[in-house]
Amino acid sequence: MKILVINGGSSSLKYQLYDMTGGDVLCKGVCERIGIADGILTHRIGDAKYPYKQDMKDHTEAIALVFKALTAPADNGGVLKSLDEIDAIGHRVLHGGDKFTQSIIVTPEVEKVIEDCFPLGPLHNPANLAGIRACKKLMPNVPQIAVFDTAFHQTMPEVAYTYAIPREYYDKYGVKIRRYGFHGSSHRYVSAKAAEFLGREGDPNFRVVVAHLGNGSSFSACKGGECQDTSMGLTPLEGIPMGTRSGSIDPAILQFIINRENMDVGTMVDKVLNKQSGVLGISGVSSDFRDLESAAADGNKDAQLALDIFCYAGKKLIAGYVAALGGADAIVFTAGVGENGPDTRAAMCEGLEFMGVKLDPDENAKRGGERVISAPDSKIKVLVIPTDEELVIATDTMKLAKK
Ligand code: ADP
Repeated sequence: MKILVINGGSSSLKYQLYDMTGGDVLCKGVCERIGIADGILTHRIGDAKYPYKQDMKDHTEAIALVFKALTAPADNGGVLKSLDEIDAIGHRVLHGGDKFTQSIIVTPEVEKVIEDCFPLGPLHNPANLAGIRACKKLMPNVPQIAVFDTAFHQTMPEVAYTYAIPREYYDKYGVKIRRYGFHGSSHRYVSAKAAEFLGREGDPNFRVVVAHLGNGSSFSACKGGECQDTSMGLTPLEGIPMGTRSGSIDPAILQFIINRENMDVGTMVDKVLNKQSGVLGISGVSSDFRDLESAAADGNKDAQLALDIFCYAGKKLIAGYVAALGGADAIVFTAGVGENGPDTRAAMCEGLEFMGVKLDPDENAKRGGERVISAPDSKIKVLVIPTDEELVIATDTMKLAKK
């Protein structure tokens, strides 16, 4: 069974084609600068790259170009003789509001909910829906499946998802003003893998804190495979400071800066807090953790401060979530920084010895796949588990398409 996975952003679109028989990735690629001049699609098979320099007016044109790359002659990176070989298409969708607790086959009703959630994901949801509609238009007989970033977190109890603002605003606008959480496919995959890795699969008492640390970062507290709390909120802006997002700040700061800079709220939230803040804003160096680490090693104090603030915020979240769960069996690090940043992992665990977290520095320094990095006598096991959001999407898509 061949499954195409599509992950659409506002001006980019990533794809991966899976052969689910062996779970192999046949090819992958990314379309960049959609709707902007100098568009480019970079198609890849392993390390081989096949660039297509072509403007893409919108997501329909981008998908058409992806299909062209997939069906190109084999010596030019093509992997399919015909599009008929694709059995189903799985779409990553940012926001499903409180309507979807799991992945679902796209129907007109599902499209309507994705549209209703545009205000909650103004950059992503329109792009996700455009991708779905483009695929439907070009391949009307192939099932389209929506996999929501928010779905896994829908098991959170009211006490975790309710904001302390007047109740009247909660349910006034069609979409509820509450915590939803994101990176759901990653938290689901990694928390399940941790249970499996420690021989606790299906155990309703297995408690794990997941630290997904990438360009965007989020934490979750899960028990028995269900999410109990997570750090991102109504939108991905809440939580710890990220590459370019501020994370949680005192909302009165908005009012203060907006008044003095004569700025509108949209600019403040979309541009300043989402794109110019976080570790980039603090350091003035970069949003990329490798750049920050090398600048800090060269003596840049602001880069070091950005890293310190990131780790300090992460440590507080981990400890808070262990408390929320009444103790934990495991803490798992995942995504770009979580998988590859031993210094970040060490800094986030430092000081948590009081609750039974003890890293093994040698294991923490090693590279590799799924592994334990805590000392044998650590009460809470600390693991690194590489995430694979695309595989989650492909697997859900296969299951639903088979139905
Ligand atoms: P995204 O949220 O875009 O999926 P990723 O999960 O790919 O992000 O994470 C990207 C981040 O991971 C970047 O800040 C990058 O610097 C960081 N990263 C990747 N490799 C390393 C490494 N070896 N050491 C430290 N950070 C790393």
